[in-house]
Amino acid sequence: LLTIFKGPNPGMYPQVNGNFSFYSGSCVVFMCITAVTTTVMLPSLRDLPAQTMCPHCKHQVITITDHYSGLMAWLACGCLALIGCWPCCLAPFWMDSCKDVEHRCPNCNNILSFYKRL
Ligand SMILES: [Zn+2]
Repeated sequence: LLTIFKGPNPGMYPQVNGNFSFYSGSCVVFMCITAVTTTVMLPSLRDLPAQTMCPHCKHQVITITDHYSGLMAWLACGCLALIGCWPCCLAPFWMDSCKDVEHRCPNCNNILSFYKRL
């Protein structure tokens, strides 16, 4: 009985340790991601729809985004116009990556965050 008990133990420990360190590693990464999305939730809303908790209806939602031409789009337009790209200087007004982003709750339609690029 002793030899059977001793047998699997030394073999199992490294395997368990290996699995544990692997899981704890991925767990730390997972906790970082959840910490960013839950505790710092509203400033983390950038230019893409993101999962967050709505402070108005207390639901876990994925935000709806609307893009608006902000200062960044106007500056990019001005710079392109100064360089002489006349037809292209209007491009920032079609490019979502140059626009400010408004995040709304799909549940109660309240504005959750407004991401300004400048
Ligand atoms: Zn809501």
